[in-house]
Amino acid sequence: MMPLTAAPAYVPATGQPHPSGADLHALVRRLFPICRSITGDGVRQSLAILQEYLPELQVHEVPSGTPVLDWEVPREWNIRDAWIKNARGERVVDFRAHNLHVVGYSLPVQGWFTLDELKKHLYSLAEQPRLIPYRTAYYADAWGFCLAHEQLLALADPTYEVCIDSTLAPGALTYGELLVPGETDEEVLISSHICHPSLANDNLSGIAVATFLARYLQAQPRRYSYRFVFAPGTIGAITWLSRNAEAVGRIRHGLVLSLLGEAGGFTYKKSRRGTAEVDRAVALALREAAAPHRVIDFKPYGYDERQYCSPGFNLPVGCLSRTPYGEFPEYHTSADNLAFVQPEALLDSLQLAQTVAHLLEANRCYQNLSPYGEPALGRRGLYGAVSGSAHAASAQMALLWVLNLSDGHHDLLAIAERSGLPFEQLRHAADLLCAHDLLTPFSN
Ligand code: ZN
Repeated sequence: MMPLTAAPAYVPATGQPHPSGADLHALVRRLFPICRSITGDGVRQSLAILQEYLPELQVHEVPSGTPVLDWEVPREWNIRDAWIKNARGERVVDFRAHNLHVVGYSLPVQGWFTLDELKKHLYSLAEQPRLIPYRTAYYADAWGFCLAHEQLLALADPTYEVCIDSTLAPGALTYGELLVPGETDEEVLISSHICHPSLANDNLSGIAVATFLARYLQAQPRRYSYRFVFAPGTIGAITWLSRNAEAVGRIRHGLVLSLLGEAGGFTYKKSRRGTAEVDRAVALALREAAAPHRVIDFKPYGYDERQYCSPGFNLPVGCLSRTPYGEFPEYHTSADNLAFVQPEALLDSLQLAQTVAHLLEANRCYQNLSPYGEPALGRRGLYGAVSGSAHAASAQMALLWVLNLSDGHHDLLAIAERSGLPFEQLRHAADLLCAHDLLTPFSN
């Protein structure tokens, strides 16, 4: 028996732009029991659920053996059951109780093993003795079980019967892709890994935030086109990159979404470029959210930003997370469960991603059309009509900052960074100045 039954198939109506944290958590709950890996039916089942939320989501199948960049699509792995039984025939380790019990990509196995032989295939965490670790053996031709250290210590029989009812055979790698078209064909890439079994924060949280971000954007006017990729980590991103040279050339901004469901502060890992517009947009969104956060430099380790930011592509793609991988004790263990992921944290993460999209949409460079001395704002009714309030004062400052920095070299993000004023106030000032013919959008 799975420890959790699937939640009822409640899907909020499409076009409903304001989901609740409970809506995001409900999607995480539906996906949680499925045994996913880098290939196999678990990925297909997960994408089929996402299609209930995003009916236009395309599912792609790439055959095993297909060359993809410097890699090759691996054989497909599927698993039906696995167990370790004692001499009395009792399942002492049972895949049906938790899918983390089997090392991902385990070869099929059936037979009796001495405890010493069996132990070579067992993985546990002595420091977290009640938790099951998450392990994979994608390219190793191996098999194994993961179990709580307490369970391991309790194994005392001289021999055990072992079964892994799995298949590793030619098949396909499956990924999902959704294009939300905008006014232009310039694209924003949103990517989430979809290859982990029953782990909630890593990365059902990222998948849920990406799914609801897509639904939100579908209901908004859009300058950019948004491409959502739900693919297995590493090999999935490499496969997508190898098949989408044209789309790659249209990517102007991108985000990898991962680890967005627990209550820790945000972490934004900048793109390899370091000063890309998306890097500045996320940093400003975090500043304006006034939430605890860190902005860290790119490094060639982590999630699929590693592939998007490999030097041949060097795409402006950063990674938005909360507490980074490896820095929370639940990471890659059975404690990364449905209780660990908080509805409010999921919703906060979604709202931050929405703000980033809004900033990218609204960011522009402008040209001051009256750059010699300050233009006479009073004559145009733009100066101190209502003075005295703090808001009036900062609205005034917004006009002055926008006029001063609109030289074709500073976009609104740069003006917000330098002035410390809210982006929306600057955008409003720019609109007002445009309406009075003092400013015009800069086109190069
Ligand atoms: Zn992971």
